[in-house]
Amino acid sequence: MTANHAPAQAFSGFPEVLRGVAMAMERQDGGAAHCLSQDWIFMCHSCGTVLTDSWNLCDTHSALQVIIVLRLTDDVIVEPKMQVFLGGPLKGCAYLCLRCRSCNAIVGFSLCSANDAFLALRSLFCLHKKQVTCYMLNSRVVIPGIQFHMKLQPLSGQIEERIP
Ligand SMILES: [Zn+2]
Repeated sequence: MTANHAPAQAFSGFPEVLRGVAMAMERQDGGAAHCLSQDWIFMCHSCGTVLTDSWNLCDTHSALQVIIVLRLTDDVIVEPKMQVFLGGPLKGCAYLCLRCRSCNAIVGFSLCSANDAFLALRSLFCLHKKQVTCYMLNSRVVIPGIQFHMKLQPLSGQIEERIP
């Protein structure tokens, strides 16, 4: 099937592909995983305040254990005082701390300067997976942030799926 058969339908699904469909892979015992393609709300693990949603999702990073997003709700405070990581993979990188406005918990950071390995994270918002609870919209599914992983789906596969 090519796009020539139904170009309008092919492009109707394009924005959804672009925003990076949130893929959650919930690890099961034995290493098997099931993938879920849905919209998610990310909440403060301590108090349930909504921090952001999957429309703002950019990526997840397994080594840093963070969920990376473009925007946050007004319930997250970006502290003005710049700090510097003293150890770990981000050692020497300057950042601003992100706090939950409701409970004051530190929920993540935003890099102001970064080493070569993490340049792409500058000015984005990184939420600590351990401080996030993920709720799948229109469902009863709630998973801890530590189990949330994003996986971009191949563009070609997405288009083909939407052509009848
Ligand atoms: Zn909170």
